[in-house]
Amino acid sequence: YQVPNWSGGWFRVNDRGQVEVTPAPGLHAPLRPIIDEIVERGESLPVILRFPQVIAGRVKHLNDAFRKAITEYGYSGHYQGVFPIKVNQRRVVVESIAAAGYEYAHGLEAGSKAELALCLAQRLNPEALLCCNGFKDDGFIKLALWGRTLGKNVVITIEKYSELDRILKQARALGVKPAIGVRFKLHARGSGQWEESGGDQAKFGLNAYELLRVVERLREENMLDSLVMLHTHIGSQITDIRRIKVAVREATQTYAGLIAAGAQLKYLNVGGGLGVDYDGSKTTFYASMNYTVAEYAADVVYTVQEVCKAREVPEPTIVSESGRALTAHHAVLVMPVVDVTGPTRDLEELAAPNEDSHQIVKDLEEILVGISARNYREMYNDAVGDKQTLHNLFDLGYVTLNDRARGEALFNAILRKIAKLIQGEKYVPDELEDLQKVLADKYICNFSLFQSLPDNWAIQALFPIVPLDRLDEKPTRQGTLVDITCDSDGKIEKFIDLRDVKATLPLHEPGSRPYYLGAFLMGAYQDVLGSAHNLFGKVSEAHVTVRPGGKFHIDLFVRGQKARRMIESMGYEEPMLRDSIEDQADEALKEGTLTSDQEHELLEDYGEELLGYTYLEYEEG
Ligand code: PLP
Repeated sequence: YQVPNWSGGWFRVNDRGQVEVTPAPGLHAPLRPIIDEIVERGESLPVILRFPQVIAGRVKHLNDAFRKAITEYGYSGHYQGVFPIKVNQRRVVVESIAAAGYEYAHGLEAGSKAELALCLAQRLNPEALLCCNGFKDDGFIKLALWGRTLGKNVVITIEKYSELDRILKQARALGVKPAIGVRFKLHARGSGQWEESGGDQAKFGLNAYELLRVVERLREENMLDSLVMLHTHIGSQITDIRRIKVAVREATQTYAGLIAAGAQLKYLNVGGGLGVDYDGSKTTFYASMNYTVAEYAADVVYTVQEVCKAREVPEPTIVSESGRALTAHHAVLVMPVVDVTGPTRDLEELAAPNEDSHQIVKDLEEILVGISARNYREMYNDAVGDKQTLHNLFDLGYVTLNDRARGEALFNAILRKIAKLIQGEKYVPDELEDLQKVLADKYICNFSLFQSLPDNWAIQALFPIVPLDRLDEKPTRQGTLVDITCDSDGKIEKFIDLRDVKATLPLHEPGSRPYYLGAFLMGAYQDVLGSAHNLFGKVSEAHVTVRPGGKFHIDLFVRGQKARRMIESMGYEEPMLRDSIEDQADEALKEGTLTSDQEHELLEDYGEELLGYTYLEYEEG
């Protein structure tokens, strides 16, 4: 499961084969007992475990990396991060970042009016930035300006030229001096899935000509000192450090150009993009990154300094809008395996071979016995042909259901035997490449992919998936995961691997104890992008603090959305639903299909389900 490779030290496997969270040196707690306690309290799964200490640790890690680089290079400016709350607006996330970031003057970034309203209510370090990105109407701009009167370091970023006039007009009307940033469209592009965010065709930002017009316009207004920040962003999850260096160089040259044009910028904002190594491969693969947080900080500081020295301009305060890197690690989705299905394996259970079996079934029996390392390819092709014939004959009524069942089980046994023979072989014939996937068991997990891991469905994002315990026991099965939505896309068939992507995950035979899988590194973007397919709602959450001695405390348990909430979000009202069921039950009572006791029970059950969790509720254990 590659835990040491992707966990960045925030998780590890202990000597009892359990995954532990390790939020700080000397602090560790296994996850399984946390789930056991939640279940003992009578709560239902799935659940998201959130570890605020991990968020605090990530904030410290990023800021310390920049501080170290600044000291090392003798950089004369500072670093001040801002957290773009769109990455995760959850209260525990924003408040944990605000608290841990206070000493570093780490700020926030809002991309909409609602996000700004949320950010303004946070008590940040007065130096901390509150950046306003995204397209803005007058209301957004006014709110941002009011923020300055509250003593907050609010910077309004111009995403398109026409926003400048609006800002000046509103600022005049309110009598508030604005702090303005400009977003510049770098020609440098990122690498990875979001590389379209940069480049000349990017959705946001001004070109070089417009940038100079902003300077001129502010000079005319005698407000050049209001222009405080240059902002750039080349996309999220930049996998290749070289792309970052190229972009930072271009951004710093632009900064120097603006200074030369008379601007007095204080901040150079290099945007987001700091990656997360989801697969632990440390490569430029889209789910990875070929650099560390420390290398990122060092390269950004070094590059900015190098250009500033060459251009003889002051070294600005460096700002980054790292979101993914601060939040991905803190959350783990825990999903119980509720069932396992797979290709029929139990040949013995099927009727023993008999004289009357159809010849095609006998042929398959012969293939199974005769397979060897020399002939498996030929035998495979024969078996595929025989299976096709079996089905054709069944359709025509020449093969019984019993023979079909036995024939299919024999075919699966043949595939398993071949899979064993080619295991570890360097060369696998094309037609056998998908064998593992075909033979894999389907582990049915109590969760919705669309609600909890939407990026896996939408953009094939990979998240490390690991059983919470039994890691001292060799897994005996290969599986893929399916969720409980009625959508055949609700499945996970791609898993992390150091060299490639794996089609199956090694898993244990579920025993008498519940078997739990954790999806890790899912704390960035997933919570907000999730959708209510099949009316599976928000998942319950436990906010957990790790205490010394391997102990933990569940600070807060937030129940997931109830069925009623989900139904109401579609425009229905609860009383209307209850009335309709009551009327129908009364009619059934009159018609005699329901007794009055049953009616009472039915209404009670209906009411209970409206208040229930939308996921499967089994007695665990
Ligand atoms: N800043 C801007 C302008 C963004 O669009 C984004 C996301 O794409 C971010 C910051 C956050 O990026 P990341 O999560 O890669 O740090």
